[in-house]
Amino acid sequence: MEGAFCLPVVVETPRHAGLDSALSYASQRLLAPGTLVRVPLGKREVAGLVWHQAGSDVSAATELREITEVCDALPPLPRAWCELVAFAAGYYQRGLGEIALSVLPAELRRLGNAAIANRLRRLERRLQRADAATPVAAAAPPALSPAQAEAGERIAEAMAAGEPGTVLLHGVTGSGKTEVYLRAAEQALALGRQALVLVPEINLTPQLVARFVARFPGRAVVDLHSGLTPAARLRHWLMAHMGKADIVLGTRLAVFAPLPRLGLIVVDEEHDPSYKQQEGARYSARDLAVWRGRHENVLVLLGSATPSLETWLNADAGRYRRLELPERIGGAAWPEVRLLDLGKLPKTRGTPAALAPPLVAAIEARIARGEQSLVFLNRRGYAPVLHCGECSWKSGCPHCSAWRVFHKQDRTLRCHHCGLADAVPRRCPDCGNPDIAPIGRGTERLEEQMQALLPGARIARIDADSTRRKGALEAQLGAVHAGEVDVLVGTQLIAKGHDYRRIGLVAAVNPDSSLFSSDFRAPERLFALLMQAAGRAGRDAAQASPSEMWVQTWHPAHPLYAALRQHDFAAFAATQLKERASAGLPPYSHLAVLRAEAKTVAAARGFLVAAAEVAPAAGAGTEVMVYAPVPLGIARVADVERMQMLVESPSRQALQAMLRAWLPLLASLRQERHAPEQRLLRWAVDVDPLTI
Ligand code: ADP
Ligand code: ZN
Ligand code: ZN
Repeated sequence: MEGAFCLPVVVETPRHAGLDSALSYASQRLLAPGTLVRVPLGKREVAGLVWHQAGSDVSAATELREITEVCDALPPLPRAWCELVAFAAGYYQRGLGEIALSVLPAELRRLGNAAIANRLRRLERRLQRADAATPVAAAAPPALSPAQAEAGERIAEAMAAGEPGTVLLHGVTGSGKTEVYLRAAEQALALGRQALVLVPEINLTPQLVARFVARFPGRAVVDLHSGLTPAARLRHWLMAHMGKADIVLGTRLAVFAPLPRLGLIVVDEEHDPSYKQQEGARYSARDLAVWRGRHENVLVLLGSATPSLETWLNADAGRYRRLELPERIGGAAWPEVRLLDLGKLPKTRGTPAALAPPLVAAIEARIARGEQSLVFLNRRGYAPVLHCGECSWKSGCPHCSAWRVFHKQDRTLRCHHCGLADAVPRRCPDCGNPDIAPIGRGTERLEEQMQALLPGARIARIDADSTRRKGALEAQLGAVHAGEVDVLVGTQLIAKGHDYRRIGLVAAVNPDSSLFSSDFRAPERLFALLMQAAGRAGRDAAQASPSEMWVQTWHPAHPLYAALRQHDFAAFAATQLKERASAGLPPYSHLAVLRAEAKTVAAARGFLVAAAEVAPAAGAGTEVMVYAPVPLGIARVADVERMQMLVESPSRQALQAMLRAWLPLLASLRQERHAPEQRLLRWAVDVDPLTI
């Protein structure tokens, strides 16, 4: 192969395969870094990306396998994109190729150069047709409220500055944050730049896309998420990459959209846990967005009514600029929060009522006035467990350390962890007692109990079970908007994001369990959920009666509920941060978790113990602490035992350095021979884990 070049190419390799950096391939011509290619790997042919050689120059190749195909119909991925991928791989301790290839549309990895060229031609024709269409008039923007105008000015200043930085837009629900995003996007567009807008859930993209399309007719607005068809995903991605899309709206994977003219990044509901990928490369799209903004020198706008404590502390410390939208648009009042002390209710025999009498009366009053109510409970199914009073049998899952949930509608016992579903037994499987009873309450039972408490009311339930069919959620929400429903019952699915117009009352049936959870983030999440839920009430300022939020609780004196009553996020955040500081928890320390899965507890623990033994060699000690292995909250799922080990440091750099040195040691631990049942199935590191 005379005169050939040797080029570094990254490919998607199985995890921990030891192929962490680029492989070398021969090429007849020099290719720009970021060029998509197809290369032989073992017996397969796979997609790869020509990479940047750190330090050394490309040299003449002798015995290398050759690049099979150069997909140069596609312009190379920009350097800034490659750097984002390299940062993510380094920070989250994953393979470069794994991240680089997995964030590309699947079609791109599959297609050859001719097919890609073809797609690009089709896209070009499509865009020409769109250009020829008669433009629609833009929806007239509303006059900004004084707080919005102030925020808009600060954002304009920041965008014009040499280092735009990160802005936290803290605004209660309904305070008009989206309007501020629209104005910021308008500025970016006016400067000839592209705007990237991230949302936590696919469900929320259509309504946001509609708002951007209405505001910017004639501009190309595309969405990017896993719900698109492969062809649409590729098309939208190509529009971003070719600079044809002006606005890209998407879920966490969109943070990796290549955008040659990037001018603004918005992260809506920045506190939402959905921004953290929970498998594979466990990246935080919010954190990567902040890094990307700094790296590409564009403004990052983080919006939330209940910012994450990490973000809040960054604002306190002056690393982010904080802007406030303290009031709801149109002056709608914040719902009155009523704490219903369950301990003070008259004792009843048998199953306690789902809703206490004063709450039932309040809902009846709303119905009488033609208003809607929303009642939520974070547990689906009819009852979390079935129980035999004779022999104390319970509906456990044979494969998981969890109960199987009773679903009355289809009379099944279902495990929400491994999916095992069986018909409900007629008698106790252990003693034959025909009288087995449900314990506790899920949304199905709540719906049934509410039908009894509110005879004649039109009650609808929305949860993951009722919305399994495609389009079901939209249809059900449509019925709510059309006023065909008096009371909406469901899980947190209904408490987030949706713009209801006629809901006057929101009730949380029993949110107490999060107050005393072993997860230190549980209160933060509960507060965010309750604030979100409260934000669903009284969205229409013209509505006659003041809105209200009810919380049924055994702990009405808890400070979290006191802060909720005052709708005082700052007070809540201050107490939480103080607790975190004294306990040495994030954001005052930095965490990583090593998780191991095996058929036996001993095997999972054995791996973690061995990992802990080599940790000092990786620099663990005084600055980086490695804790003892513990089982996960649900230790066994689908016959797999899951253990984890916490690694903690006050210094992010120290933690990163330790992980970098530790992972290669872990990879070699795994090579040691064991009997099959003793073998480890999987292990993974989660950097900045959200649940521990
Ligand atoms: P948030 O994103 O903070 O929850 P939105 O931006 O969705 O709030 O605004 C809530 C409602 O108020 C929306 O219906 C929106 O169209 C409307 N709105 C926002 N800003 C204004 C304004 N300046 N004047 C009138 N209506 C507005
Ligand atoms: Zn029994
Ligand atoms: Zn199970």
